Amino acid sequence: MKKGLLIILSGPSGVGKNCVRQEIVKSHRLSLSYSISMTTRARREKEVDGVDYYFVSKEEFQKNIDEGNFLEWAEFVGNRYGTPKDKVEELRNQGKNVFLEIEINGANQVMSKVKDDRVISFFLMPPSLGALEARIRKRKTESEEIIQERLQKGEKEMTMTQNYDHIIINDKVSRAAQEIIDLVKAKLKK
Ligand code: 5GP
Repeated sequence: MKKGLLIILSGPSGVGKNCVRQEIVKSHRLSLSYSISMTTRARREKEVDGVDYYFVSKEEFQKNIDEGNFLEWAEFVGNRYGTPKDKVEELRNQGKNVFLEIEINGANQVMSKVKDDRVISFFLMPPSLGALEARIRKRKTESEEIIQERLQKGEKEMTMTQNYDHIIINDKVSRAAQEIIDLVKAKLKK
């Protein structure tokens, strides 16, 4: 059996990765499994533990680092986020395509660690910086200080996209999702 594809989606905070990902997973045509990350960030009201993330303490996260349980992990605006290694491998070995929604440092770690060519990476761009700020604010989940930090971080990330296979503009969720679906399908045919 062919090993499953590893699909990486990155992009600045507030660009709409979540919406695009949900649209892609909903399409049911790609046999995708979403890799649930572990994080030390506090749970947002609508988030569910074990669905959106595994929410853990700093100590538990550190224990997982020490035990070598992460495929990658990174710090993002004061919190840690990581991809559990065994689950990703297990799914890929079953031929499932695994979707990672991770920030840029983690994505670079994965791209340099995973040596097979069964990886495809996407960086989602906002149509404009104004649109990005409007989206983060609309979410109403962060304080002003964190919003500013996330915007600054996002601007920096948007200059560091050279390792990604494809840059996708999120002008419309359904269109951006379709563009990604088509590129993944083309890669699966190879
Ligand atoms: P948020 O706090 O908005 O859910 O996520 C902050 C950033 O961390 C986003 O860019 C998100 O894609 C990224 N992220 C989520 N899970 C992981 C992970 O497992 N590893 C890395 N490196 N980044 C992650």
